[in-house]
Amino acid sequence: MAEGFRITYATMSADNEELHKLYEEGIETATSWLGQKHPLYVNGEARVGSGYKEVRSPIDSDMLIGEFAQATREDVRDAIAAAKGFARTWADTPWRERVRIVRKAADLMTERRNELSALMAMEVGKSRLEALGDVEESADLLRWNCNEMEKHDGFTTPMQSLGSAGEYYDVLRPYGVWAVISPFNFPMALAAGPTSGALVAGNCVVFKPAHLGLFTGLKLYELYMDAGLPKAAFHYLSGPGSVVGDEIVHHPDVGGITFTGSYEVGMGIYKGFAADYPKPIICEMGGKNPTIVSDKADLDKATDGVMRSAFGYGGQKCSANSRVYVHRKVHDEFVRLLREKTEKIKVGNPLEKDVFLGPIIDESAVATFEEAAAEAKKNGEVITGGDQITDGDLARGNYVQPTIVEVPLDSWIWKKELFVPFVSIAPYDDLDEAIRLANDTEYGLTAGLYSEDRAEIDKWLSSIEAGVVYVNRRAGATTGAWPGVQPFGGWKGSGTTGKAGGGPYYVTQYMREQSRTVIQE
Ligand code: NAP
Repeated sequence: MAEGFRITYATMSADNEELHKLYEEGIETATSWLGQKHPLYVNGEARVGSGYKEVRSPIDSDMLIGEFAQATREDVRDAIAAAKGFARTWADTPWRERVRIVRKAADLMTERRNELSALMAMEVGKSRLEALGDVEESADLLRWNCNEMEKHDGFTTPMQSLGSAGEYYDVLRPYGVWAVISPFNFPMALAAGPTSGALVAGNCVVFKPAHLGLFTGLKLYELYMDAGLPKAAFHYLSGPGSVVGDEIVHHPDVGGITFTGSYEVGMGIYKGFAADYPKPIICEMGGKNPTIVSDKADLDKATDGVMRSAFGYGGQKCSANSRVYVHRKVHDEFVRLLREKTEKIKVGNPLEKDVFLGPIIDESAVATFEEAAAEAKKNGEVITGGDQITDGDLARGNYVQPTIVEVPLDSWIWKKELFVPFVSIAPYDDLDEAIRLANDTEYGLTAGLYSEDRAEIDKWLSSIEAGVVYVNRRAGATTGAWPGVQPFGGWKGSGTTGKAGGGPYYVTQYMREQSRTVIQE
């Protein structure tokens, strides 16, 4: 790796030969891992659960990613019992030691980033730089959570005395067993961020990856074990949401949950988790993220940013830009430029160097794409795209065209999170109206604005309802947050806590306060 070269989502256009050479070596290594059987792990013990299930690549159905053990409810209960049994020991382990282990895992992640990202690309269809970005973001999330513990001295704060001699202080202490349920689309980062937050805080973790991110999840387990994490502190439970997830959510010994995934599943978990008494739950859910392009915008910047955020990783980011409101005066020019840039996107096998857009995750995503395209063809206009791609080898994967549409504002396309490379555009006349439309959604994750007018920027900043907002960003209108740079979390139906990953209030969520008074007279 070139000295000092840093991979983030903002380096997407990086044309670095050395980076590609190393990535190609990573592809070779990851290819040698394919097609094998993988157990789940309870307290370090390899188990088969109810048997193995095949997982194939969205790139090409001939590519067998592997066969993965499916945990039973019994496996989940055993993992929770082992985690509970070790919880006191882990909580009493000095926080500096927990941080040391998690930092070691971060370093291993960076060391192995080429093979890990190549594997992820095969498993979920990310392009080279998106996959590298996901792995490097994961390592930075681990480091961020460690830094937070250090910055706050393990969250011990001296308090005042009212007279009697003694110790008066306040500590943050872990909950015990913390569950992490992660989604397919950032199979490393959205497992690494929450698990490391829970671990440095002193919780033992039961981890359930998405059924389409099992191999990357297993690699995270291996990283923690190789870094020296005690086996009872982390359990890897591959298996379906309806069994593993359901057992976790309804188990009385799970003290807290971090769920990242869809609104539908997240709200079910949110309502179902705290049955007997209040328990903390961090749900990070979907988005329907808007961008406003003013008549005072730099349209070259705006179309670059929208193109990247609408079509990067096939629109399968919770932060993807799916709605654009453009001032009527610049509408035609904006659409012309965006169309031109979109039609230049190379779609194909994302393992190849120059491919920007790989496949979407599965057949149900293709069905969602076709449904939205049919609605646009019927009630609006397809500016570009709108069809599945089945040429040559691509017929064995889930490939679709990046699609821009114009549909009436009452179409369901403006409301539903599609999670495919699909963006709708509408003209506006008045900024207040555009902001009202942008906020007219159950979600509130990310949002973008392009305007060179400071008064417009300030008005938008004070009225936009979203947790992560960007102004005039060429690297992405609504996507591309980085730990320590853009804390990431949603408002409204996009998130339950109002606190963001990679930000200053994240790690504290994995702990509860204990105020301690020890009189010494
Ligand atoms: P999903 O279908 O909601 O699944 C997320 C996780 O929940 C998976 O591990 C899934 O397991 C599990 N699950 C499913 N049913 C469950 C149940 N009844 N009880 C407990 N767990 C259950 O989401 P996805 O398709 O993987 O990911 C895409 C969604 O995530 C999008 O909506 C996206 O916006 C959202 N997302 C949000 C953020 C954010 O930070 N706000 C970030 C990334 C993604 P199985 O896979 O085994 O079904």
